[in-house]
Amino acid sequence: MTLAFAAPPAVTVPIANSDRLFPVRRIYCVGRNYAEHVKEMGNDPKGTPIFFQKPADALVLDGRFPYPAGSNDVHHEIELVVALGPGGKIFGHAVGLDMTRRDLQAAAKAGGRPWEAAKSFDFSAPIAAITPSAAAMTGGAITLDVNGTRRQSADLADMIWNVDEIVAELSKLFTLAAGDLIFTGTPAGVGPVQRGDRLRGDIAGLPPLDVRIV
Ligand code: MN
Repeated sequence: MTLAFAAPPAVTVPIANSDRLFPVRRIYCVGRNYAEHVKEMGNDPKGTPIFFQKPADALVLDGRFPYPAGSNDVHHEIELVVALGPGGKIFGHAVGLDMTRRDLQAAAKAGGRPWEAAKSFDFSAPIAAITPSAAAMTGGAITLDVNGTRRQSADLADMIWNVDEIVAELSKLFTLAAGDLIFTGTPAGVGPVQRGDRLRGDIAGLPPLDVRIV
């Protein structure tokens, strides 16, 4: 048998200080995982975090985020990303952005509809290089600056479910495998971006993420 047309290109993420690439299988995301962010969105901070997914080819590796059609209120969400290796064990971590069409998300919530158009659109997952580590990151500063002004600032220790707990909870619902990425949720301070903005995301110990809104 032969392919009817060329297979889509493999999606990979650079590994810091290495010439190897991380091959991506799936992208899981955690919502409502920092209490202060849960409150700013008008939800109950005693609630349980939630899961959704993005397509692997939504990753942005070149730092250019095209402002998407269909929305006039696109928000930044800075997040720790966990990369899984063979056996579903932790392979490493990276800085990522869960870009969100907030207006479409609000409409979906109001209508009891799914979030795909709000969360899983093209270019919705900018990411920096992965730093290998077999141990879960449990603390450290996580920040996002827009045009040099701090918008989000917290500590990874503020997560409601820590990395190990996220992996355990996801494993109850899905078979995790090598190549999976998990965006672990965003702290408070989310807000809109505009064309021309420069975003800078930092997590202590990881390569920074620089993104231009184009
Ligand atoms: Mn998020």
